[in-house]
Amino acid sequence: MRPPRLVPLFATVRSLKGVGPKVEGLLNKLFAPRHEGGHARVIDLLWHLPVSVIDRPVTPRIADARIGDLATLEVIVTEHRPGGGRRGGARGPYRVLVEDGAGAALELVYFNADPTYLKRLLPEGSKRLISGKLESYDGGLQMPHPDHVSTIQGAEPGGAGALPLHEPVYPLTAGLTNTTLRKAIGEAVLRLPNLPEWTDAGFVAKNAWPNFAQALARLHAPDAEADLLPSAPARARLAYDELLANQLALAVIRARLKRRAGRRLEGHGKLRKAILAALPFKLTGAQKRALSEIDADLASPDRMLRLLQGDVGSGKTVVALLAMATAVEAGAQAALMAPTELLARQHLKTIGEFGSPAGLRIALLTGRERGRERTGIVEAVQAGRIDILIGTHAIFQEHIVFNDLGFVVIDEQHRFGVHQRLALQEKGGGSGAELLVMTATPIPRTLLLTNYGDMDVSRLDEKPPGRKPIATRIVPLERLDEVVAGIERAVRGGAQAYWVCPLVAESELLDLAAAEERHAALAKRFGGKVGLVHGKLGGKDKDRVMAEFASGALSILVSTTVIEVGVDVPNASIMIIEHAERFGLAQLHQLRGRVGRGAKESSCILLYRQPLSEAARERLNVMRRTEDGFVIAEEDLRLRGGGELLGTRQSGVPLFRIAQLPEHESLLQAARDEARLTLSRDPELKGKAAETLRLLLYLFERDDAIKLMRAG
Ligand code: ADP
Ligand code: MG
Repeated sequence: MRPPRLVPLFATVRSLKGVGPKVEGLLNKLFAPRHEGGHARVIDLLWHLPVSVIDRPVTPRIADARIGDLATLEVIVTEHRPGGGRRGGARGPYRVLVEDGAGAALELVYFNADPTYLKRLLPEGSKRLISGKLESYDGGLQMPHPDHVSTIQGAEPGGAGALPLHEPVYPLTAGLTNTTLRKAIGEAVLRLPNLPEWTDAGFVAKNAWPNFAQALARLHAPDAEADLLPSAPARARLAYDELLANQLALAVIRARLKRRAGRRLEGHGKLRKAILAALPFKLTGAQKRALSEIDADLASPDRMLRLLQGDVGSGKTVVALLAMATAVEAGAQAALMAPTELLARQHLKTIGEFGSPAGLRIALLTGRERGRERTGIVEAVQAGRIDILIGTHAIFQEHIVFNDLGFVVIDEQHRFGVHQRLALQEKGGGSGAELLVMTATPIPRTLLLTNYGDMDVSRLDEKPPGRKPIATRIVPLERLDEVVAGIERAVRGGAQAYWVCPLVAESELLDLAAAEERHAALAKRFGGKVGLVHGKLGGKDKDRVMAEFASGALSILVSTTVIEVGVDVPNASIMIIEHAERFGLAQLHQLRGRVGRGAKESSCILLYRQPLSEAARERLNVMRRTEDGFVIAEEDLRLRGGGELLGTRQSGVPLFRIAQLPEHESLLQAARDEARLTLSRDPELKGKAAETLRLLLYLFERDDAIKLMRAG
């Protein structure tokens, strides 16, 4: 139940004075990206911050105003000239003549105006404050459709319909004017209840922050653009509130997951030893470090919640296998869930190969195992005859019952957000299974805190030895022929190449068309040595093509972005990415990581179409400059700005509405500390102080955390 005093803020915008069906429709459209077509609410207006300020200083005399500029003038209405005016002709605009105190004249010009309305707005002989753009016309001065007309009285600060001397300018949508939006937001601000302070009073005082309601009111009535900067007290305060809600929610989730008793999973070490003895390589230092962190978690009675972060090829799978082996030694079962079928099969291959010397019983379950085969697997899992189950989300469906699931690995690849993680983990580990999440895209420190603040983190920041650098070049599409000729030479020497086709649109069909076209063109030259994989290909066919590429029967593999995850062909040493300018940095990095895995010198060619946008050029240059995933991740954050998530929410919708990263980085740290301190004092958030923090969580709609608190 939402606290009663917050209810009006979550009403639809229609509940606001002056918002009818038409404006409501426009506001629904404005906020559609967040609500997927749902209803705009009062609170959406409150979070919709201005991006700039227009100054409307009052100029007493027309002569002091500049032509072409915004002018705000005190005038007396002298005459109405309905359609026609001095030019005659019934179709001319409606003109209202006004003059200033010094007798200088000006015409207000209205096209398609309603005369009754204008007579009421501007009665002859009345004094008015008008604001709009001043133009010269036919030797005279005019102001077409003034932005504002108000009585002098109304212009007093705070007066009804006050003309803002400093007008906030909002992001709009087609058909919505700034004035309409500003008025609706003004009404929304009036609805703000007075709320008790949830933040440490000393901290608020030290920063000289206004309270929550004051801060919002202030941001919607800025005096100057400086008031809108991330560092402005009102903005900083609200950013802190938002970050605190984020950190508190993560802390609540963490506390909740940790509270469900974990178990001690201590192994005798025999399985692990057998695996290590048979591995064709030695673990890297980073792998050993990550494993000892995982081992400590497993051995402790607390629930394990760990993120294993490591670049493509850094060797996460082996770490996962060794950790799962310990769980099996302790008598439990383990499960590994991958985001795609392809990746699940890849994991099966690696884990099967490295795990078999230890006699681990491993099975695969995806949407593709059906009938008898499926029933057999499901029964074996239930009877405890399977040690490690690998699969897609199919492994956590209702009817899959484990005999004793003790350890869950989720290969996240950025495809699951906090919410899904929670749900999956509840499902997969109802008994309190230990949880390890693996992610291949290095996450910038800031985003680690905002998205994974509920977890402990291990980093694989060291690549297995012997990896050669990947020579990366950026080449315009005009030089395609040279590139193809180069591939021809390399292929003759036994090399294999990936050719990734452009992201044309959000449409898989269009992507496919581009890939098919490229495949056809290359097939003309290379004959049967070119294969094609894409998302529409059936599982069996996909496997067949991939197997042909892996065996070397195919020299070139053309694909849409399906190869992004889960392909491991060490002999492939060339990566061509067509229309690289259309890919994001994280994606380019992932794709490039498919080569450079074997003994051969590898190369990556980023083909682009001219002209390049500034942002695209920067992205490609970053790729050319570095292979370090952590550096690329930081650059990605910088170039995208705003702490936008790498695909864990709908793309384009930033995680935060007020807070801005990295600008509010220090506030984020403070918020984390406050959240952790609060929870350590009051783990159930039941005390009096926690009451106000619930308000905060409701305001920022952290329903996930609230639900957990209520469930106790
Ligand atoms: P990730 O899942 O992090 O992308 P993988 O676990 O798939 O990486 O490992 C990539 C490749 O490197 C695999 O072929 C794996 O066998 C190999 N590998 C893993 N660890 C090492 C190591 N310490 N030394 C050499 N090769 C390794
Ligand atoms: Mg892997």
